[in-house]
Amino acid sequence: MTGEPDAVIAGAGIAGLSFALAMARHGLSTRIYEKAPELSEIGAGLQLSPNATRLLARFGVLDALKVSAVRPKALNLRKARNLSSIARFPLGMAAEERWAAPYLVVHRADLQGALLGRVREEPLVELVTETPVENARFHADGGVRLRLVRNGTAQEVHTPLLVAADGVWSHMRRLVRSSVRSRFTGYIAWRATLPVDEALTATGGALEADCVTAFMDPAFHLVAYPLRNGGEINLVAIQPGEVPLNAWAQVADPTPLEKALAGANPALARLAASASWTVWPIHEVDPADAWTGPQGLALIGDAAHAVPPFAAQGAGMAIEDAVVLANALARHRDDLATALSAYEAARKPRLARVARRGAFNRFTWHAGGAVALARDLVLRSRSEKALMSDFDWLYGFDAEACDGA
Ligand SMILES: Cc1cc2nc3c(=O)[nH]c(=O)nc-3n(C[C@H](O)[C@H](O)[C@H](O)COP(=O)(O)OP(=O)(O)OC[C@H]3O[C@@H](n4cnc5c(N)ncnc54)[C@H](O)[C@@H]3O)c2cc1C
Repeated sequence: MTGEPDAVIAGAGIAGLSFALAMARHGLSTRIYEKAPELSEIGAGLQLSPNATRLLARFGVLDALKVSAVRPKALNLRKARNLSSIARFPLGMAAEERWAAPYLVVHRADLQGALLGRVREEPLVELVTETPVENARFHADGGVRLRLVRNGTAQEVHTPLLVAADGVWSHMRRLVRSSVRSRFTGYIAWRATLPVDEALTATGGALEADCVTAFMDPAFHLVAYPLRNGGEINLVAIQPGEVPLNAWAQVADPTPLEKALAGANPALARLAASASWTVWPIHEVDPADAWTGPQGLALIGDAAHAVPPFAAQGAGMAIEDAVVLANALARHRDDLATALSAYEAARKPRLARVARRGAFNRFTWHAGGAVALARDLVLRSRSEKALMSDFDWLYGFDAEACDGA
């Protein structure tokens, strides 16, 4: 790349890498500054629904991802107390036919690796690692002035557009919002991976190796699904609680999780005992607050709207943001303010709906007593087709066709 790029991106996570690829599809150039020395194997599994995978296919990363991704056959909802089945939601071929793209479960590092592989092939994208964007302020003549620190030396860079893809702990958010902080939801997420044989032995038939299984209980919910060609099982357990941490994943004493599992079927306690858990405090960022500064800043991904993982859509929303913002910029090349407001207007209603769906899942998945009874009756009475149709708005969505600009 020669000269100044069309946009500078802070953060080479899923949002930042996706945005760079989306821009390149329009012939627009970007430079990404990532604070980490290298993009590491952080996190564990991710569910990627068809609204996300159809966009990854257009970036040219889906084939690389499919080398290790698993296309689960179904989502099984079970009661954690007795492991009984409440509903079976078809995925696999049924999902791919209905929503014209696959539902996949992947390791986060494999998604990051597939995006990075494409970024490295792309002449319109420059990636600079080990360079945190330390400070940013709007410039009187338009654009944003950034302070970078490279190899211990500070330098200043001016860009017409800064795209802040710096995640849930975003510092760039302060440019457009009065409150920069994310909000702790009161829930913590435990994550682990286990060799598939160990997981199947521990649960004795309650898990199917080629499905997503969600165990529901008032004290927690636990989701298990295969990763890496089915060789591993990814576990995510979410319960009310607190951890004094602001980091992606920390090894922690799993006593609170063990206590939550005490009322569940012993198979789940056996499963938990076989795993080595990391813990993550679940934070959210209000999607209703500002996402853009018309002088030249756009927030994308978790920086704009971290949604708790109850609908498994954080990465999907980051990828959708990337595509919609790049499309708006390409359409309004000479009018940045219009492009940014088109992006924000297109994305906010979608994020609000996804956040509502997540809140609904949190309520029903952790329900007890009469509410749980009603939930089970409703789910058991619905056909597989009817269950799938509830998700047409989410999984059938094509961000490129709905960019509102
Ligand atoms: C328990 C759990 C389960 C989840 N499950 C799912 C799921 O099944 N499906 C799904 O779609 N989503 C899921 N998510 C959400 C998903 O992981 C996030 O929404 C997604 O990773 C957000 O991507 P991002 O690029 O916005 O942020 P991040 O992935 O956090 O990336 C931010 C990047 O910015 C860099 N950075 C930060 N500050 C700076 C700076 N100052 N300068 C330069 N670089 C900087 C960071 O190093 C990082 O590389 C889950 C989340 C949790 C916690």
